[in-house]
Amino acid sequence: MALRKIALEGEACLSKVCRPVTDFNSRLHTLLDDLADTLADSGGVGLAAPQVGVLRRVCVVLDEEDQLIELVNPEIIYTEGEQTGLEGCLSVPGKYGVVTRPEMVRVRAQDRDGQWFEVEDEGLTARCFCHELDHLDGHMYTEFAEKMLTQEELDELLKQEQEAEAVKKQAEAARFAKEQEAAGISAVGKAEAAAIQAKALAEAEGIDKKAEAMKKYGEAAVIEMIMNALPEIAKNVAE
Ligand code: ZN
Repeated sequence: MALRKIALEGEACLSKVCRPVTDFNSRLHTLLDDLADTLADSGGVGLAAPQVGVLRRVCVVLDEEDQLIELVNPEIIYTEGEQTGLEGCLSVPGKYGVVTRPEMVRVRAQDRDGQWFEVEDEGLTARCFCHELDHLDGHMYTEFAEKMLTQEELDELLKQEQEAEAVKKQAEAARFAKEQEAAGISAVGKAEAAAIQAKALAEAEGIDKKAEAMKKYGEAAVIEMIMNALPEIAKNVAE
């Protein structure tokens, strides 16, 4: 495993047009192996030869399945659609830019033994193909980024997004609790109301029966007294 030093923005090797590879020899194989090692060590998704000071048309790209794609003398032969998103570069540490790229890209390239092949991908990997191939022509994404962000600004954006998400979740939870509470209260209310009604009906029935019985015995005065007491009884029941 050999790690190579990654050139930083401003260094001359990053603004040169690289020469095609003509010899598919062990020197090329070592370069490809070192690019893979350096990429793995840096945690990036793509690295081009000029980024390690070698002005040859060689780059490596890690696709979203973590498959390393070695590209020698690559060219973009077809693109489709458009995507706008954040992009970074190992030569521009701590910075990110908003860049518009094709959504799908097809690349024709040679492998480490000189065999031509085509590879096609979309999303992040398509973005990466474009970014790395730009390096081979001495271009940096910072030249055409619509907006540049520092790590702090990106962290702040991510934090704001997370906070907004947390607030949204809290609001959702609160709304749910309120709905549950409202449903609970109305259920309890309904049950209580039904119980009170049932109790009142039973009381009324009892009073009626009592009244009927008393009427039978001609105790009209008592009936009247009970009838007068009804609102008071209803009040007690309700409480
Ligand atoms: Zn780059």
